[in-house]
Amino acid sequence: MLAAVYHGPHDIRLEEVPTPQPGPGEAVMRVRAASVCATDLRIFNHGHFKIRGDTARILGHEVAGEIVAVGEGVAHLTPGMRVAVAPNFGCGVCRECVQGNNNLCPDYDAFGITLDGGFAEYMRITAPAVRQGNVVQVPDSLSFEEAVLNEPLSCCTNAQQACRFAPGEAMLIMGAGPMGLMHLLLARYSGAGQVIVSEVQEHRARLAAEFGADLVVDPQKEDLKEAVLKATDGRGADVVIVAVGSTALQEQAVELAARRGRVNFFAGLAGGRDRACVNSNWIHYGQVTVTGTTGSNTAQYRQTLQMLASGRLSLQPLVTARRPLWEIGAALADAASGEHLKVLLIP
Ligand SMILES: [Zn+2]
Ligand SMILES: [Zn+2]
Repeated sequence: MLAAVYHGPHDIRLEEVPTPQPGPGEAVMRVRAASVCATDLRIFNHGHFKIRGDTARILGHEVAGEIVAVGEGVAHLTPGMRVAVAPNFGCGVCRECVQGNNNLCPDYDAFGITLDGGFAEYMRITAPAVRQGNVVQVPDSLSFEEAVLNEPLSCCTNAQQACRFAPGEAMLIMGAGPMGLMHLLLARYSGAGQVIVSEVQEHRARLAAEFGADLVVDPQKEDLKEAVLKATDGRGADVVIVAVGSTALQEQAVELAARRGRVNFFAGLAGGRDRACVNSNWIHYGQVTVTGTTGSNTAQYRQTLQMLASGRLSLQPLVTARRPLWEIGAALADAASGEHLKVLLIP
């Protein structure tokens, strides 16, 4: 089969590799769509601590397709079944795994990072992932393209659940990249009273307005705090999502939260630039909660797939480019350009 194989930073090669055959407890999926994530770009540019220098790895963790073969002992998956795969799974026995937070397992595995992923014609789903329920059936009403975007959506849900976001509340989203826009769509689906988006790039600000933001602020042109206070009767935002990896924005976010507001540091920071200096008195006297989230657990992945299946939340507007697998280089460039939202690879 054809696969885009990562050999190290800035070195992804299109290669003919053996098509996986399922061992006991495993399943093999024909990949129908995969999307490029900021994590893929980060690995492509800087590598990943879980991928050792000499490891060849097929990237791609946002993936959906059809089961083509299952190994001995797999009864709940059948060839022809349309599925999406939650990429992270844990050891299954540690405290985090037992509590259902498999994304926080210190010994996690993930397709497209520690195991071969979806930038290929076929993908092997290993036995622990099959057994832990990572393979989720996609209803006929849902396209593979949208099913692929369920993975990043589930990460947004993890963040908004950590913030206990409630209907009627005001949310501020800092950054209108693909993830910020996904937060916006999710907040509207969840009954937000008001969604404010702050974004410096004009075309992204325009998209935020098109996607239904009640107010879009360019913080380089107007004072963000003033704008947020004005829009919320002087209270501040009930929930602030920081969807840009910036300590300056994290510091600012805390002070844009209302009393009893909740803040989520959604975007990670580059190593070595990971110290924010927040106004802790604001947290103290305002009873503000600061949260961080990373990825999502499998239960959340299943939950958001049901949201998409309902038809009341569509991520289709986020798909702005589709490329065949052999154009992997161009797909990565598209995703890195900032011009596109989600770039799909269709093998
Ligand atoms: Zn991702
Ligand atoms: Zn574990």
